[in-house]
Amino acid sequence: MEWDSGGGSMRGWGSPMGRWTATWNVRCASAWTFTVFALGACAGIPAPPDPISLEIARPESLARGPSPLWASSDPYRWWTAAPVAPRPPLPSAEPIIEWSPQRPSQAFAVRLRIRQPAGAALEDVRVRFAGEHVSLARDAAGWIGVGSLPLDSAGFFPLELEFRRKGIAESRLVVVRSSERIYPSSRIRIGARPGAATAAEVNPELDARIARERETIQTAIRTSVDTEWVPDEPFRWPRQPPIKTSPFGQRRIFNGSVQSRHMGLDLRARRGNPIMAPAAGRVILADRFVYQGNAVYLDHGLGLVTAYFHMSRLEVEVGDLVRPGQVLGRSGSTGRSTAPHLHWSASVNGRSIDPESLVGFSIDLPRGAVPVVGSR
Ligand SMILES: [Zn+2]
Repeated sequence: MEWDSGGGSMRGWGSPMGRWTATWNVRCASAWTFTVFALGACAGIPAPPDPISLEIARPESLARGPSPLWASSDPYRWWTAAPVAPRPPLPSAEPIIEWSPQRPSQAFAVRLRIRQPAGAALEDVRVRFAGEHVSLARDAAGWIGVGSLPLDSAGFFPLELEFRRKGIAESRLVVVRSSERIYPSSRIRIGARPGAATAAEVNPELDARIARERETIQTAIRTSVDTEWVPDEPFRWPRQPPIKTSPFGQRRIFNGSVQSRHMGLDLRARRGNPIMAPAAGRVILADRFVYQGNAVYLDHGLGLVTAYFHMSRLEVEVGDLVRPGQVLGRSGSTGRSTAPHLHWSASVNGRSIDPESLVGFSIDLPRGAVPVVGSR
């Protein structure tokens, strides 16, 4: 293909030399003529800070021509045949999907953002991440939410976006690659399986109470799915200094088979030390439980809940809106615990995450940002 470019040489295209606006009359070998309007680079003027864009005006009379050039639905495709032109970026009508961290580990909280494309507004925006619904809130730039990765698998996870634009349903799929994290195991080899005759198994009343408590906790977490986002600064540690005594995700292996998993992070605390809210949140449970002891559950909004177990004393009540750093209670060894410590746990829409992945976590939503109605 030959070009007769009436406005000048196309070789200047894409060079970092400056900006020009020009109308090009281009004639290809088949003697058709069409016009290129271009905004690009030219000698002598500083390079533009914004991306180079390009539009091609195509006379309607040529649109039905037999040339393969016109058969392409992609108007930029022919640029790849031009001798010097790097492909200019398409003007984006696409929603931009962002997440951080870029390579999250298993059981990590993941910040998700959908940016509204230029032009048409998106409606009925829904997001699923790693198979789970993501609660979304609106801000000026688009939508934002908190996702999570499961503990038991690493690899590639779908981030699915559905929306309507001008009444037409569309969807996008991107794949997020996780980084693999090895969670430790503690192996115990003894003659009889431990806990084979615990109080819970021989005491039906206690059994029933534990079942009721589990239901109470699950209900509280379930109703915290589409609640308003409360924190307005990054999460901190609930203990200072934060000294880890038992990691999240640790498998407890008795005689070769996994018996339990530690679904929280233990932090060192003596009896009576202050346990502090890592971020603003609403107290959804503050009670004494069989396993958790004196425990507080905080709803931070958009499905993110954190919990604090084994305290000797509680200093907040259900319904309180706590500030970051506010004392929730005093550490202790109540419930199923052998020595004073803080067991800190967290979940996103009911899926357990490593609470350490929250330290420094923030989403730049105004406080009280309300979830998108019907986002589920
Ligand atoms: Zn623990």
